[in-house]
Formats: sequence, structure tokens, C-alpha cells
Amino acid sequence: MPAESTYVIVGASLAGAKAAETLRQEGFDGNIVLLGEEGERPYERPPLSKGYLLGKEDRSSIFVHEEGWYAENGVDLRLGVRVTALDPGAKQVSLADGGTIAYDRVLLATGASPRRLNAPGADLDGIMYLRRVGDSERLQAALRGAGQVVTVGGGWIGLEVTAAAREAGCEVTVVEPELVALHRQLGPELGGVFTDLHKEHGVVFRFRESVTEFRGSGGKVNGVVTSSGAVLPADLVVVGIGAIPATGLASDAGLDVGNGVIVDAGLRASAPGVFAAGDVANAYHPLYRKHVRVEHWANALNGGPAAAKSMLGQGVSYDAVPYFYSDHYDRVVYRGDLAGREFVAFWLSDGMVMAGMNVNVWDVNDDIQALIRSRRRVAEARLADLDVAIPDL
Ligand SMILES: Cc1cc2nc3c(=O)[nH]c(=O)nc-3n(C[C@H](O)[C@H](O)[C@H](O)COP(=O)(O)OP(=O)(O)OC[C@H]3O[C@@H](n4cnc5c(N)ncnc54)[C@H](O)[C@@H]3O)c2cc1C
Repeated sequence: MPAESTYVIVGASLAGAKAAETLRQEGFDGNIVLLGEEGERPYERPPLSKGYLLGKEDRSSIFVHEEGWYAENGVDLRLGVRVTALDPGAKQVSLADGGTIAYDRVLLATGASPRRLNAPGADLDGIMYLRRVGDSERLQAALRGAGQVVTVGGGWIGLEVTAAAREAGCEVTVVEPELVALHRQLGPELGGVFTDLHKEHGVVFRFRESVTEFRGSGGKVNGVVTSSGAVLPADLVVVGIGAIPATGLASDAGLDVGNGVIVDAGLRASAPGVFAAGDVANAYHPLYRKHVRVEHWANALNGGPAAAKSMLGQGVSYDAVPYFYSDHYDRVVYRGDLAGREFVAFWLSDGMVMAGMNVNVWDVNDDIQALIRSRRRVAEARLADLDVAIPDL
């Protein structure tokens, strides 16, 4: 590549930062411009609902790189900069301050943003969402003074916030339209296992109910009305009802978009020179043989570097087995003790293992991944049989 090439990365978070790192590692000596609308240098989000929210992890531990890393590696990190348009024909991006940057290749690593709940009263103070580090800090402070918390949504983030609220001494009610928590992620049976765990910690669930209205006084929330007509008292409400991929730039530019930016296994979008990785990418997965969008840390960690290599023209076929992926399955088989919470769950489609999850069973990740990759058909009885080692399945 000629030295004057400019590679622009939109979205300065995990996928974007890891892509920049890989470009340098792979010997790219052109310009790298990493643009992020947040005021913080790239950081990781999982601690925001776990250790950092609980006050157990230091702020300095969440960042992807040391502060000086960007300058030392010639990465032009520009924070507080929102990209407002992408023009694949002119090969440039426009910025909110009116400027433009010409690129040779561009990576969209714009991630996702929380799905909003548009019920009456949604603008009241005390209704919070969790995506950014500032959200986590505000939530941590709010939990300290809150007696009654209502969590809207029993997915991963809802449950993690619920656990943090319980630890802070709050009473917590979770409003969830399904029959169990984590229903969409894990299915009814396994979702039930996690629901029971939270119930044992004093969490109250209102299943098969949804939020119809927020009530408040003086501009601050004090209650949540559910579809059953119940009014739940609330000092604080946390909404965790999923995330929406940030596809605006791509769709405005006329790229193929559908549940994310559509990319091939080389993470190439439908216009030349445009790539996408991380939460925003709906990538063709060679193993699953269809497009898959994965909202997980590991997919940003691995997808950013894969996109960088692809930008450099290296033949890339991004086929990482997602940490967790259970979109399409017809059966779930358990090996071990489900009630005792010591088991491996296998999600099957057409007799092939598509995903696995180990709960209090260790050192099986590599074996499960190899089984998924093998795409071999496995008898359910053998899958469930603890006497058959996973590699022998
Ligand atoms: C609270 C929380 C807990 C989580 N816990 C886990 C976990 O335990 N395990 C797990 O696997 N995953 C977890 N995740 C998911 C994981 O954090 C994401 O999959 C990961 O952050 C995706 O990284 P990304 O770089 O693709 O996108 P993001 O992290 O969403 O970053 C995208 C960045 O792009 C910026 N941006 C967007 N549009 C523009 C624009 N037009 N101009 C400039 N900048 C822009 C955004 O501001 C953002 O900084 C969690 C997520 C959250 C929010």
C-alpha cells in the first residue's frame, strides 16, 4: 500500500480500536483515522453492567489501550466527533463540524444503541438506559439512593442490573413479557434456571406483562404501569430491552442494510472500499451458511482485526464461533444436572450442534467449539450422556 493511503474507522470502541491495532501490526504505514462520537477513548462495555457498575473495578481497567497508545502507534484518534454521512462514490465521510475526510478504505464500527421504550411518561427523570460508561456511573450513583427499582426487560443486561441493584440493597421487580427471563437468548427451560437463581436472591418477576405507562411527580418517575393494570412503585427504572444496530450512515449511503450492515465473510459491505465489523455487522458466516449479527464482546474483539486484514487485501473468511448464538435451533439437549446448575446445554438444528453453553462445568469450551465446527450429526442420547467425552461424540 502506498504510504499516503488513509483508512478511516468510524466508531472508536472495541471493534474500531482492535482494527486500528491490527492495521499497524500487519504493517500498514498509511494514515489511520479513528473517529468516535463519545468523549472517551475506546473502552469495553461488559464491565459497565458488572464489576464497574458494582464499584469493584477501577475506571482505568475498562480501556482497550493505554492513553498514549494511539499517538505512539500513529493512530489519529479523534473523540467527540460524529460522522454524519458516508459517500462511497466520492470516498469520503462528513463530520458534524462540517469537515470531510477522504478515505481509501473505511470501516464502519458504529455498534448499536439501546432500544427505547416509547410509553407515555418515557421522558421522566429516573428512567435509565445502559450503554456508555457515563450511563454506568449515573446508574451506580442512582442505585445508592433507590429503594424500589423496576427493571424493564429480563435479558442479560436487565438481569445484571437487577443483580447490582439487589447488591446495593434495593427491592427489584423485573417486568418481562415472556414466561421466563432470558427466554429469547436461552429458551424456556434454561431461562427458567436463571430465573430461579434470581428469585432465590429476592428478585420479583412479573412475567407476561409489559410496560404501558410511566408515572411520576415533579418530573421524576415514581411508578410503572403494566399491561395487567398493576402500578409498581419505582424510585428508579432501568430499561434493557435490546439494542438496535447503528446503520444510519450505511443506509443513507445506499448500502445493503438489514438487521445491520450486510457484509460478506470478508466483512466487505455492498460498496467498494467499505467494511463493517462488530455489533453493526450482519456478516455471512461460513459455518452457519447464512448472515449472522452477533452483539457480543468477542465478536468485536475478533471481527475488528478480521476487517482490518480484509481492508489490507488479505483473504479473510471470518468464521469465529460466536461465544453465544442460539438464533435457530429445534432442540436443546442438556448434559449434567440442570437443577443443580452444573451442566452443558447444546442447541441443535437438524441434528447438528449449533451452540453450546457451559454452566459450572469447566475446560470444555474448545471441545464444544470443535463439535460445532465439525457440523457432524450427533445422537441426542449420546450428547446427554456424561460417560461419552465431548470429543468422542
Ligand atoms: C452494559 C453492557 C454489558 C455488556 N456485557 C457483555 C458481556 O458480558 N459479554 C459480551 O459478550 N458482550 C457484552 N456486551 C456487548 C458488547 O459490549 C458489544 O458487543 C461490543 O461493545 C460491541 O462493540 P462495537 O465496537 O462493535 O460497538 P460499540 O461498543 O457499540 O461501539 C460503537 C461506537 O461507535 C460510536 N459511533 C456510532 N455512530 C457513530 C458516528 N456516526 N460517528 C462517530 N462515532 C459513532 C459509538 O458512540 C460507540 O462508541 C455488553 C454491552 C453492554 C452495553
